[in-house]
Amino acid sequence: PADSQQESQDVLGHQLQQIFGYRDFREGQREIIEQTLSGQDTLVIMPTGGGKSMCYQLPALILPGLTVVVSPLISLMKDQVDSLTQSGVAAAYLNSSLPRDETVAILRRLHQGEIKLLYVSPERLLRPDFIERLHELNVSLFAIDEAHCISQWGHDFRPEYAALGQLKQIFPYIPLMALTATADQATRDSICQRLQIQPFCLLSSFDRPNIRYTVVEKLNAANQLKQFLQLQKGSNGIIYCSSRRRVDEVADRLKLQGFSAAAYHAGMTQEERIDIQDKFLKDKIDIVVATVAFGMGINKSNVRFVVHYDIPKSVESYYQETGRAGRDGLDAEAYMLFDPADIGRVKHLIEQSEPGPQQDVEFHKMNTMAAFAEAQTCRRQVLLHYFDESADKPCGNCDVCIDPPKRYDGTEDAKKVLSCIFRLNQHFGVNQVIDVLRGSKAANVMDRGHNKLSTWGIGKEHSHEYWLSVTRQLIHRGLASQDITRGSSVKLNESARPVLRGDVTLQLAEPRIQLV
Ligand code: ADP
Ligand code: ZN
Repeated sequence: PADSQQESQDVLGHQLQQIFGYRDFREGQREIIEQTLSGQDTLVIMPTGGGKSMCYQLPALILPGLTVVVSPLISLMKDQVDSLTQSGVAAAYLNSSLPRDETVAILRRLHQGEIKLLYVSPERLLRPDFIERLHELNVSLFAIDEAHCISQWGHDFRPEYAALGQLKQIFPYIPLMALTATADQATRDSICQRLQIQPFCLLSSFDRPNIRYTVVEKLNAANQLKQFLQLQKGSNGIIYCSSRRRVDEVADRLKLQGFSAAAYHAGMTQEERIDIQDKFLKDKIDIVVATVAFGMGINKSNVRFVVHYDIPKSVESYYQETGRAGRDGLDAEAYMLFDPADIGRVKHLIEQSEPGPQQDVEFHKMNTMAAFAEAQTCRRQVLLHYFDESADKPCGNCDVCIDPPKRYDGTEDAKKVLSCIFRLNQHFGVNQVIDVLRGSKAANVMDRGHNKLSTWGIGKEHSHEYWLSVTRQLIHRGLASQDITRGSSVKLNESARPVLRGDVTLQLAEPRIQLV
């Protein structure tokens, strides 16, 4: 048996080389392919760029009948089919973008058994006439790409995916492969439950050792971004912002500063977007400033950096988006600007949505993302832990490992900030508190007579950014809070009392004012 196994492995390896020109399988591919060929349902969890498609493409060519691939994105289908056709594989796709005569031609080829791999959208697959057709065709395998779209836990729930749960009932004997790059246990469980499978599960490592993770406190975002980009010396990168308006604003500013940058968001026409995407792929633009609409299905290997100008809405999104950097395995940067107040803002938005399980999920995701951004331990450890993977050593390639946060006795600083909040009757925002502390003579201070307060100017030895960092830490620690519904005014909490009285000391992280 050992011999025959050896032999079958050679057969697979040989086919990989013959058809796709690759010498070796990537981590996990061989196991999945073997399980599939033996008729098992499978769940493939691999990071983006890990080589998921191969897991069904090679079986598709070995199995006698047709392999149907469900894919949510029309652009993605076309790219895949084009590149398969170039390798001499009989592949095609069916979706709403296709003219009628082409659709008819593909259907004919399907019935003549001339197609090995067919890409379809979930809506198309589940149309009753198409299900009827599939019964007549000899289907060997169903592959469901981006399978997390079926789960509300995923970062990209799509209602049209939910109906795929019927597939196993309709075709109980045809093996089903679900593929995703989203790995947390909740998503995994919900994929299996919804698809009604008990699959062989392959979970490959999510570590991307060549990506350096950095999270810096957002102080003067425009300057921080500029300095970061200057260090990148014209290499390719993506900057993610949370809104279209922000995208335009950042892109315009970068162009003025002389960077080769362009905006990309759903408010632009399709032609404009395709043009930007194309120029980026061909290295004619260095930087794309975008909403999360950009990047899905973009296979560009030499993206050197991904910047998050605003906090992403979940750890999965952060991982997916940063994962677009460094697919070629060379050093890459994931750089995030983090303003703790954004968390409050996002939560406030979530509060406006309809109460229920989905709202709870969103809250949970935001809290987890906030915990990542605020972590004082190795970023990679936190990230891998999120994906249920343990890393026993700090990585040495993230901001926390490279420059660990320093601690100092912040009791005096804290007293200054807290008493200033008190003197302002807990009625003003962070900026007013800091202006008063620093003895500002600006109108917002003078007009209100805040220059007469006893706390005016008691913190003039430090910069605005320094006090911003101290104040944020006090808010995090719960000594003070910000009331979003009342113009973000800062108020004191019970736990501020012992600090103000001098009963306790307080360790704070030394503000990191130096940019980048
Ligand atoms: P994913 O869907 O997991 O993001 P892809 O299937 O697009 O990843 O594969 C990423 C890249 O890796 C593709 O360019 C693909 O051709 C390549 N690839 C896949 N399998 C192998 C292999 N065994 N050896 C070398 N390259 C591979
Ligand atoms: Zn680290």
